[in-house]
Amino acid sequence: MRTCVGCRSRAPSSELLRVVAVGGATDGTATVYRVLPDPKRRQQGRGAHIHPDPTCLAQAERRRAFGRALRVTGVIDTGELSEFVTAPVTA
Ligand SMILES: [Zn+2]
Repeated sequence: MRTCVGCRSRAPSSELLRVVAVGGATDGTATVYRVLPDPKRRQQGRGAHIHPDPTCLAQAERRRAFGRALRVTGVIDTGELSEFVTAPVTA
């Protein structure tokens, strides 16, 4: 069982999407991390889990849950994850 970083409910990991933070690139003023979906669960590094649902994504963003869950500080870019959960593709 894993906890969704959006709605905080627990669910089997098969129902949740794994996400990872990639980057650490700086835009001059802040460090930017991209949160990427990892549907095949193959990415190295620390992951977090979220329902593949725009509602959960919005909750996670509002609570800045990604930075906490992924242990990164800086700007979190969820653009690609947002596209993924808005228009899911078959893994
Ligand atoms: Zn959720």
